[in-house]
Amino acid sequence: MQQRKIFLDDEELPKQWYSIIPDLPKPLPPTIEPDKRQPGPGIVPLIFPKAIIGQEISKERFIDIPDEVREVYKLWRPTPLFRAMALEKALKTPAKIYYKYEGVSPPGSHKPNTAVAQAYYNMKEGTERMATETGAGQWGSALAFGCMLFGLKCTVYMVKASYNQKPYRRIMMESYGADVYASPSEETESGRKILKDDPDNPGSLGIAISEAVEDALKNEKVKYGIGSVFNHVLLHQTVIGLEAKKQMEAVDDYPDIIYGCIGGGSSFSGLFWPFYYDKVSGKAPKDVQFVATEATACPKVTKGEYTFDHGDTARLTPLVPMHTIGHDFIPAPIHAGGLRYHGIAPTISRLVSEKKMQTKAYNQVEVFDAAKIFINTEGIIPAPEPAHAIKGVVDEALRCKKTGEKKTIMFLLCGHGYFDMQAYADYFSGKLLPYEYPAEKVAEAMQRLKKLYPWLDELKKII
Ligand SMILES: *Cc1c(COP(=O)(O)O)cnc(C)c1O
Repeated sequence: MQQRKIFLDDEELPKQWYSIIPDLPKPLPPTIEPDKRQPGPGIVPLIFPKAIIGQEISKERFIDIPDEVREVYKLWRPTPLFRAMALEKALKTPAKIYYKYEGVSPPGSHKPNTAVAQAYYNMKEGTERMATETGAGQWGSALAFGCMLFGLKCTVYMVKASYNQKPYRRIMMESYGADVYASPSEETESGRKILKDDPDNPGSLGIAISEAVEDALKNEKVKYGIGSVFNHVLLHQTVIGLEAKKQMEAVDDYPDIIYGCIGGGSSFSGLFWPFYYDKVSGKAPKDVQFVATEATACPKVTKGEYTFDHGDTARLTPLVPMHTIGHDFIPAPIHAGGLRYHGIAPTISRLVSEKKMQTKAYNQVEVFDAAKIFINTEGIIPAPEPAHAIKGVVDEALRCKKTGEKKTIMFLLCGHGYFDMQAYADYFSGKLLPYEYPAEKVAEAMQRLKKLYPWLDELKKII
C-alpha cells in the first residue's frame, strides 16, 4: 500500500543531533581576524553562551539533545513526511516525490529547531535577554517563541522593508513577548550612523545583524542568537533529516536526490546531513545526490566567490570562509526574504568546492509558477523560499518523465507561506520580475573586498 503521509510517535524524536564536521571531505578553513590577519574567533566568544561556543567548534559526530529541548520539540515534532502523490500525478512523472514539512511548528518554519535550543542554553547560563536580527520575520518569530518558553526577554531588529511590508510577522513576535525595532533603528550606534546619512535606508540583513551584535556586546546579560550559517545552528536542524530517515525506512524507500533552498544553508543542511552521513559511512543503499537551490537575485554560490568575507555589513564579525557576493550587498526586494543573505554556511561552501553537492539558481517568476502547481495539487501554500526547491523538484520530475526514470525525489518544505500573501498577490497580478543579480556587480564587490584587504588573495590559498 502506498502511504500518503508518514508520521512518527513522540518517542521516535531523535535523542542526538548529527554534526557533519568530522565527516567533511576536507576540514573547514578557520575564521580570520582581519586586524591581526590571523585565524581567530573575533567577537564570537563575546556574544554567545559557552555551551553554544562549544558546539560551534565541536568535532563530535553526535551531540545529545537536552531533555528540556526535546520536550519543547514535542509540541510539533516529529514533523510529517508527505508523499506528493497529487503532484506526481499532475506532472505525469514516474518519479516518487516526498517532502518533509516543517511548517507545522508554531512559528511556521524550521527555525524554532535551533531557536528553542539556543534559548535553552542561554537560560541555563543566566542570560536575561537575547538580541537578534530578522529579515522576513521568520527567524525573529522563532527566537521570540524560544525565549518565551524559557523565560527570557527578546529584542528583534527587523529589516525595515519587511517591518513595513509584513506587519503580521511583527505582531506574531510581539504576541510571543518580543520587542521589535525597524532596522536601521535609533537603538544602536550602527543604526544611528546609517540613518544619519540615509534616513530612508530600507535596511538589510547585514545592517540588522550589526545592530543585534552591538546590543549583545554592550550589555553583559544580553546574548546574541543567530538563525543560520553557524555550525551550531545547522547542527540543531539535523532533527529534520534524522526523522526523515526513519520515515523513509517506515515506507521502505530511500531518496536518490534531495532538494532544499539555501539562505544561510541551515534548513537544507538539517535535512541532508544525516543522508550524507549514510553515504560517507557506507550505509546508504543509493548514491544519494544533494541539490541546493538559491535565488538568481542573490546568487552567492552560483555566481559568488569562495573566499573570506564578513558576515555583516558593519564588519563586526571575523572573516568567514564562504561563498559571498560581498558583505555590502543590497538585495533587490524579492519576496523570498530568507534567501537574501550575501553569504552561506562554510560547510556548504566546503561541500560545493569538493563537488559533494550541486547548486541551482532560479528567478522568482519560475519559482512562483512551480509553487502554483504545488498549491493546486498538494494544497499547502509554500513560503517563497522553499518554492525554489519545489522548482528544482518539478524540473527533475519532468526530466524523469522524459527518460522514464523511477527516481525517488525528496525535498524540504521548510515553511508555509501564510504570512506571504502579498507575494502571491504580486505574482497573480503579474507584478513579479525575473530579477537576476549581475555578475559584474559581484566582481565589483570582490574588488572592493580586495581593496579593503589586499592580502586576501594570498590568504585564499589556505581554502
Ligand atoms: C530562514 C528561512 C530560510 C533560509 O534560511 P536557511 O538557513 O537557508 O534555511 C528558508 N526558508 C524559510 C521558510 C526560512 O524561514
